[in-house]
This record gives sequence, structure tokens and C-alpha cells, in this order.
Amino acid sequence: MNYNKKSVRDADVKGKKVLLRCDFNVPLDKQTGEITSDKRIVESLPTIKYLLENGAKVIACSHLGKPKGEFKKELSLAPVAKRLSELLNIPVAFAHDVAGEESKKLADTLKGGELLLLENLRFDPGEEKNNPELAKKLASLGEIYVSDAFGTVHRAHASTAGIAAYLPAYAGFLVEKELSIMGGALDDPKRPFVAVLGGAKVSDKIGVLTNLIDKADTLIIGGGMAYTFLKAMGKNIGQSLLEEDKIGLAGEVMEKAKAKGVKLLLPIDVAIGDRFAADCEKKIVSVDDIPDDWQGLDIGDKTIALFTEATKGAGTIVWNGPMGVFEFPAFANGTKSMAKALADSGAVTIIGGGDSAAAAEQMGFADKITHISTGGGASLEFLEGRELPGIACLQDK
Ligand code: ADP
Ligand code: MG
Repeated sequence: MNYNKKSVRDADVKGKKVLLRCDFNVPLDKQTGEITSDKRIVESLPTIKYLLENGAKVIACSHLGKPKGEFKKELSLAPVAKRLSELLNIPVAFAHDVAGEESKKLADTLKGGELLLLENLRFDPGEEKNNPELAKKLASLGEIYVSDAFGTVHRAHASTAGIAAYLPAYAGFLVEKELSIMGGALDDPKRPFVAVLGGAKVSDKIGVLTNLIDKADTLIIGGGMAYTFLKAMGKNIGQSLLEEDKIGLAGEVMEKAKAKGVKLLLPIDVAIGDRFAADCEKKIVSVDDIPDDWQGLDIGDKTIALFTEATKGAGTIVWNGPMGVFEFPAFANGTKSMAKALADSGAVTIIGGGDSAAAAEQMGFADKITHISTGGGASLEFLEGRELPGIACLQDK
């Protein structure tokens, strides 16, 4: 996968109609329909402002929720247009269709420095089907395409991939940042490169595991997935999360690490509970002493010390997947300590994955991390080293 893509800085946007794919997939209040967090809108402002300040006619578009190809009033982007207008302090035109007549008319009357937002792309069934007709229609609204919706670059949709067949395609600032930091870490990491993996399941992380074991100097495994590894080592894991059919794979990963000289670290002690509940009884035991009817819900103190030590002196640390059931305060310590270890490490630190990113933010470490990748599924596929259609379609540098 080539991460070296042209950015909006490389485009001559003055007086041009720029079709800008944003991620305005904001959370809405179920009752009132109001936007409950405008974080994604705020994050999209640097690219929008850059374009407006450089005289572009900006035609922004996005999906919102899952309308399944039909108009759903509650998923209209009209409230986003209003919020954008408040944040930018300029009027924002809103087209009530997706690349239809109204869109076309409004796009053609835009002047340099003006902004138009189209209606929810997924109201059109062609969007998720990557329908070439829709891609062509969208493309016909503009002269340049800019992709800034990192959260959807792993999807080949009309507005994320198809459109690039008809317009010169560039990365916006959000996508550019993902490419330079995360792409840079995967391509040519500052070493030692430490990968920290956790989360619920081995099966969710097979791709990440196999990609990172080829690149990392140290691989740290915690979270629910660690128990399948402990089982593969012949340990009794009680009622802890186990994927029976992945025990073999865990064994292979350990073999591969050994053969490649990758240092593989697993928990040596764990915080266990007598049931899966926030108010369960808790104790910390060695991984050799997990009772039959208890389950591992977090890493223990000795493991925290071991994992923290392994992050010291690292050049790059990539983390995906919480170390425990951090949603239960009694079992959040491992995840919190890992976030702190990254924050204190002095390394280039990258967090990918929806829950890990949320945990780091919740726990107050976000501003001490080099980069928190904004796309849940997209970040994961990025870490898997897969070709992402929404990135592959952009012009190479
Ligand atoms: P990400 O979204 O960062 O990729 P995942 O979705 O893979 O992370 O995993 C997050 C989930 O893993 C959390 O909901 C957390 O409760 C769960 N988890 C972590 N450790 C354990 C464990 N020991 N047992 C059960 N679930 C766990
Ligand atoms: Mg998740």
C-alpha cells in the first residue's frame, strides 16, 4: 500500500469547485434529533477553512447514520449545515438532494470562498453500492475531489472511491495526517517498534497480528485475546474469554515471534472477577492460579510493570485494543496504565481502534499521544496493512 499521496496543498484550488468528502457522521440525540457531539464537524474545519481561504468553491458531502438508500428525515444533514455555519460564521448553502438538480444549481452559483453542503449521501442507494452513475453525477458537480473522511476510506463507495475515476483526487488534512503518521509508522517506523494489542477477540485482530508481527520488535498482548494465548501455553484460564478455534493460531503467532526474534510479552498476572459484572468480586492472581470459576478481566500490577518497561526507549508504539474490560472501573487500571505508558514514553505513539481511542480520551491522555486515529474500522484495516479503496484512489505524489 502506497501512503504517499497528493494532498490538498498540492492542488490549485482557486476559483475551482471542490467536491469535499467529509465525515459528518455525528451522534444524534434519539429524542430531539440534536447533534450531541460536533467533534467530527470541528475536526473537518481545517481543510474546509483552507479551501475557503484559498478561494475554492466548496461542495461538502457526507453520510450520516444508516438510512439504507432512502430519505429519512431524522438523518438529514440539514442540522450539520446549521452547525457548520455557526462554527465558520458564514452562511452555508444546503442542497436537499444528493447530486440532483438542486445540488447542481447551487453548486453552479457558488462563488470562491463559499460553502455548500449536500444532503446525506446514503439517501441514494448508489452510494454504498459504488454506483458509477452516482459517482459520475457527484463528480460533475466539481472539478477537484478531496477526501477527508478517514472513517470511511476502507469502504469503496461512490463518494469515497468511485468518484476518483472522474476527478483529480487529493487527500484533505485529516487523511494526510493519518497517512503520514500511521502510514509512516507502518512503512518505516522509528525503532524499536512496539506493538500493543488487546481488545476482546483474537478473531478480530488476526489481520493486525499477522501484519505487525512482521514489522514490530516487541509485541505486547493483553486484553481478552491474551487468554487464548495463555491457553495455548497450557494454562488454566477459568471462565476467561477463549476462542477455542484460535488456540492453534495463537501457538503459530508465538512460534513466529520466536523465529523472527520478536519479543512477545503476555500477561504474567491478571485481575480476575467471579463473574462478568462491574460489581463482581475481584482479586489479582498469577496467570498460573486462575480458579476454574473466575475470569480474567484486566491485566495485573506485575504485568502493568512489565508492559510499561517494554515501552520505555521505544521509537514507535502502536496500540490497538484495551488491556481489560475498562468499561468496569475496577478493571480499567490496565488500560489506563497503558495509556499513561504511551503518554510518558517519548516515542511516536499511535492509537488505532474505536474502543482504545475512546478509552485514551476518557482517561485524559489524548493530548499526550502523537496520533489517535479517527476511524474505527478504517484504522484497523490500515493497521492490517490492507489496501484501502478510499486511499488507493488518490493521486500518488
Ligand atoms: P478496539 O475498538 O480498540 O479495536 P476491541 O473492540 O477489539 O478494541 O475491544 C474492546 C473491548 O474488549 C472492550 O469492550 C473491552 O471490554 C473488551 N475486553 C478487553 N479485555 C477483556 C477481557 N479480559 N474480557 C472480556 N472483554 C475484554
Ligand atoms: Mg471496538
